[in-house]
Amino acid sequence: MLANSKLYEKNHPRPRSQIDKKIENRKELYQNLRRKILKKYDFRCANPDCLIPRDKLDVRCLQIDHVNNNGYEELKEFYCTTNPKFLKKVLDDTEGNYQLLCAYCNWLKRFELKIYPLMIYEEKKFDPI
Ligand SMILES: [Zn+2]
Repeated sequence: MLANSKLYEKNHPRPRSQIDKKIENRKELYQNLRRKILKKYDFRCANPDCLIPRDKLDVRCLQIDHVNNNGYEELKEFYCTTNPKFLKKVLDDTEGNYQLLCAYCNWLKRFELKIYPLMIYEEKKFDPI
């Protein structure tokens, strides 16, 4: 059952606003850049020991990895990994600063190097298990 506000929205669709168009354009830009990045890195996990066979890997699970582990520093500048400026930088990189890792390998790398999101565990006492 829909909540009242959802029911109202369903029966009274609002016209597309400028904001909606901006959001749509931003999504399209993000998807285009991400597709180009996936193609650049051959739609595969860069870890040669990846446990997920290539034909079973869902490309939606591929994540951009900072080879030199400076993602935290870099994301201070770009705020988030969906920022088109960041994605363009990845796309234009020719120095091997980035690679794609599947989510499994990317998290294993983080655990092994003790790199945690938001660096909230800076004291490195955190054990994720
Ligand atoms: Zn992998």
